[in-house]
Amino acid sequence: MNIQSGTVASPAPLWATARPMVDPFQRAITYLRFSVTDRCDFRCTYCMAENMNFLPKKDLLTLEEMNRLCSAFIAKGIRKLRLTGGEPLVRKNVMHLVRELGKQIGSGLDELTLTTNGSQLARFADELYDCGVRRINVSLDTLDPDKFRQITRWGDFHRVMKGIDAAQNAGLKIKLNAVALKDFNDVEMPDMIRFAHGRGMGLTVIETMPMGEIEEDRTDRYLPLSKLRVDLEKQFTMREIDHRTGGPARYVTVEETGGRLGFITPMTHNFCDSCNRVRLTCTGTLYMCLGQNDAADLRSMLRATEDDGPLYPAIDEAISRKPKGHDFIIHRTHNRPAVARHMSVTGG
Ligand code: SAM
Ligand code: SF4
Repeated sequence: MNIQSGTVASPAPLWATARPMVDPFQRAITYLRFSVTDRCDFRCTYCMAENMNFLPKKDLLTLEEMNRLCSAFIAKGIRKLRLTGGEPLVRKNVMHLVRELGKQIGSGLDELTLTTNGSQLARFADELYDCGVRRINVSLDTLDPDKFRQITRWGDFHRVMKGIDAAQNAGLKIKLNAVALKDFNDVEMPDMIRFAHGRGMGLTVIETMPMGEIEEDRTDRYLPLSKLRVDLEKQFTMREIDHRTGGPARYVTVEETGGRLGFITPMTHNFCDSCNRVRLTCTGTLYMCLGQNDAADLRSMLRATEDDGPLYPAIDEAISRKPKGHDFIIHRTHNRPAVARHMSVTGG
């Protein structure tokens, strides 16, 4: 009640203040992974089928819409934003988005980063640094050019190496990600550790996840990292460290190299308790969990009005549905994917 006028003050609209995002399990959501395109210039066998059908252009958010949506998330407490895909650097004019988002570093956003296959890095490394990006993840599953071609189907190993050189020269810190594949790169892992650490890069190995139909049987290639680790410990001394990113990775220091090695084990362990992230696709669909199908459509709201206000309660409503964890494990014995969409849709 406004005492002087005797009128009842109308309550502030729900969206007037962008409240921080806390899910039903009291996890603060501060990390957004944003898949800016489902397209890619590679066709990694564990990720995509060779003849993929990609989304029609009308379904994709424009770069301006992407910037608006990311800004709404930053207003709601996102501190770390990772662009991914598909291959983020093949999205046309993606550097416009990177530059706009880079302006928010230091005012809301702590870090802007990306995960890339490295094919376009030679072209974009300097500009990425100029936009405020300081660290990137580069996916690299093998050091053998022939095997690289085999696993990526379309990729050129030497081009990726040039990209890594360019990124390091530009001042970008790199972490390599390698998917552990039985009878493919398991024997190479010691060399990959020496290579990465010798060049001042971290290395994280990832278990394959059953996402999207691909042409091969994933169980043929599935390698539990617990087994890989036992093998690696025959050659390396690993010291557990407390480095945490809120994600499913656990890290060790390799004493012989002095470098950091991460293990992402969504299949053998589940570290959902400390999950701080949500994922947004290039159609404006918000997935609250990589391993679940529940999602919220933010694109229709984004297109319905130029006012960002209504987005906030829509985001809150989606966060209130964030599940406790994924259940890839339940599906592991089946050859069918646990989640129908490909990793390239939600982003790795
Ligand atoms: N194209 C970029 C790249 O490859 O870095 C970004 C997108 S890609 C989907 C992100 C990460 O997901 C990559 O490191 C890739 O190896 C990983 N990935 C793709 N499909 C996967 C799967 N089924 N299981 C586990 N990791 C997967
Ligand atoms: Fe493309 Fe990355 Fe998927 Fe490989 S893992 S096909 S590079 S999106």
